[in-house]
Amino acid sequence: MIAASTVLDGKGHVLHDTRIVIEGSKIAAIDPKATPISYDLRGLTVLPGWIDSHIHIAWIFGKDGKSGSPAGTAAETAYQIAANAWVTLMAGFTTVQSVGNPADIPLRNAVGDGEIPGPRILTAAEPLMGQGDKTGTPDQVREFVRKQKDAGADLIKIFDNYSVRRPQMMLSQEQLNAACDEAKKLGLRTLVHAYGEAVHAAIVAGCTEVEHGVLATDDDLKLMAEKGTYLDPQAGLVWENYLQNKEKFVGTPGYPATLEGFASMETLIPIYRDFMKRAYTIPHLKIVFGSDSVAGAHGRNAEEFIDRVRDAGVDPMTAMVSANSLAAEAMDLGGQIGSIAPGMQADIIALDGDPLRDITAVRHVLFVMKSGVVYKYEAVPRGAN
Ligand SMILES: [Zn+2]
Repeated sequence: MIAASTVLDGKGHVLHDTRIVIEGSKIAAIDPKATPISYDLRGLTVLPGWIDSHIHIAWIFGKDGKSGSPAGTAAETAYQIAANAWVTLMAGFTTVQSVGNPADIPLRNAVGDGEIPGPRILTAAEPLMGQGDKTGTPDQVREFVRKQKDAGADLIKIFDNYSVRRPQMMLSQEQLNAACDEAKKLGLRTLVHAYGEAVHAAIVAGCTEVEHGVLATDDDLKLMAEKGTYLDPQAGLVWENYLQNKEKFVGTPGYPATLEGFASMETLIPIYRDFMKRAYTIPHLKIVFGSDSVAGAHGRNAEEFIDRVRDAGVDPMTAMVSANSLAAEAMDLGGQIGSIAPGMQADIIALDGDPLRDITAVRHVLFVMKSGVVYKYEAVPRGAN
């Protein structure tokens, strides 16, 4: 049983001076009179474990210091990836959606089987890369989607364009329709990496969630709200991380060939931030938390909360809910994770400080429980029950 003075329930409410009763992997009750206290988290802010809707958990820096290179032997590489899972869990993220690497599958399974510690992982396995006609006919696209399902994918990730600088669509509306429709038939969600007009195409195709979304018009955003399409924009961490680690990304595929080339990324930060600000003005638009953490950012996912609140003006409670009940709902897991209530998985974290007053409290995670198992408990017990 956990004693808490302040609990954010994950749905936007604050509970005071209560106790959370855990039985096995689940929350059994919220009962202020429950005894005895196993974990005294009074004085901290208790909330559901965070959910990051967009990371790349298998992305590492190699032995040569470069992004995407092997860390050495296969075993060394595997340990690096396992370390990403560990630091992510220690940072308070008890569930992550990793959007595209077949290496995610054995990691997901090992964590799920309790063999190694890490967040609960949902993965897309291999993403569908839009490449114009070469992507294949709609039937071939459907076959690719089925192959990912057979490989164990929990969702389908689709790239409809490269970047905010190269937003031309790489999938036709027919190809995109086929991908999202086939996934839906198989019971899988679809996340579409999309900028500009690709955002509209993804909404029309009935895809589940748009990643990034920059350059979408207000009409696109209103249509998303109307159709219930989720939006996963970023406010800064992904770019800050590239800039902080530019010598590790320079010259690798998809990144500038020279260090000077990274200057253009600095100009992207306000573009992303302003897009997020604009998205939050659209009524009923469902905006989830996704940090897009790659090598260098694992374990620092919560910096994205700070960027959102400090730089994009997002309300702190809204930011918390975007990584709790709303993210869970977007994953069709709203009945299992993302809130503190009886019957939910006991995914519970505690922060030193109040993120509603000072968002930098998200850096100070002192307690992490996932499915009733405690992985971190740095809190000092504060007296008797
Ligand atoms: Zn990404």
